[in-house]
Amino acid sequence: MKKDYYEVLGVERTASSDQIKRAYREMAKKHHPDMNPENKKEAEEKFKEVSEAYEVLMDPQKRRLYDQHGHEGVSQTFRGGGFSWDDFHHFDDLQDILGNIFGGSIFGDIFGGSAGQRTREPSRRGGDIHVILTVTLEEIVGSVKKKFTVDRYEVCHDCGGHGGHDLKPCPQCKGAGRVQTQSRSIFGTFTSVTTCPQCNGKGRVPQKPCTTCGTLGRIRRARKIEISVPQGIAHGQYIVLRGEGHFGLGGKGNILVEFEERPHQYYERRGYDLYIRMLVPYSTLISGGSVQIPGLNGKTTDMVKIPKGSSAPEIVRSRGRGMPRPGGGHGDLYVELDLLPLTKKDKGVNKVIEELKKYEGEATPKKRRNV
Ligand SMILES: [Zn+2]
Ligand SMILES: [Zn+2]
Repeated sequence: MKKDYYEVLGVERTASSDQIKRAYREMAKKHHPDMNPENKKEAEEKFKEVSEAYEVLMDPQKRRLYDQHGHEGVSQTFRGGGFSWDDFHHFDDLQDILGNIFGGSIFGDIFGGSAGQRTREPSRRGGDIHVILTVTLEEIVGSVKKKFTVDRYEVCHDCGGHGGHDLKPCPQCKGAGRVQTQSRSIFGTFTSVTTCPQCNGKGRVPQKPCTTCGTLGRIRRARKIEISVPQGIAHGQYIVLRGEGHFGLGGKGNILVEFEERPHQYYERRGYDLYIRMLVPYSTLISGGSVQIPGLNGKTTDMVKIPKGSSAPEIVRSRGRGMPRPGGGHGDLYVELDLLPLTKKDKGVNKVIEELKKYEGEATPKKRRNV
């Protein structure tokens, strides 16, 4: 007599998929054969039983069939008329549940070939290199070239990456680069194709070891790399130099160049807009005029127009004179006006100030907002 699926997982007939998932999580841990070395056989059966229940109750269609017609209703949905591991669709969940206990590797071995023949290739691409490049605002605006040095693995020039000389077909894989392995597990016997461990997939093995690289096929070298600083690049953004990273058997890695913007003495950057604070003489504020600001674009100075009747603090906006945008165009330049204190003081100034007072009004509060 086959046991009721809900009973197997210990859940109510009205259980939600979340509750079912939680129940299965507990059961799968409890009954996994590797957790029960004393009675492996019994655990295997129990583990399969809870997995079958999980497969049915997690699938709305199968669950409905089961609710209406019992075991007979669902048995025909299994390929062999009865549940086998080929009918199980939740290996990912299992990996989740058990991966933490056993680590990825054991699990990979058990489930690796569950879809019949499958090729498992470890990633053999060379590693990436992360570089942090400090740039100034001037360099970002001027799209200058910059150099930096990386210490990376490169293919051994002596043996061409084979690790040795006098290449002969690999005896283990007969030159195919791949080998078939059969593994028996609680889920049945699986055939899997893997990279040949003797030749690392190359199909040929050297007879004489390379002394330049010590058979590794790669050597470490310091390399100078030159890049153009992308116009308008911002702090924390990066570019990828494909194939410039470490050499590996399956290809070269990348270099990630992350940009770090050095704070500027005068300018503050907000997005693509630039802010500068200028101390401006009172007379210029009143009558208007041009003032010189430090330039970023190779020029030593730039001019900015101060409108007549400006006050301080006040912000003057100069359109299109901010940072270059990557897609074209520029942000804006904001000049924050501040009052330049008198630099020369003698008796004459007192007279001027007395004179000035005749034209000034009273100190008055300035509105922050209209209410
Ligand atoms: Zn070599
Ligand atoms: Zn081989």
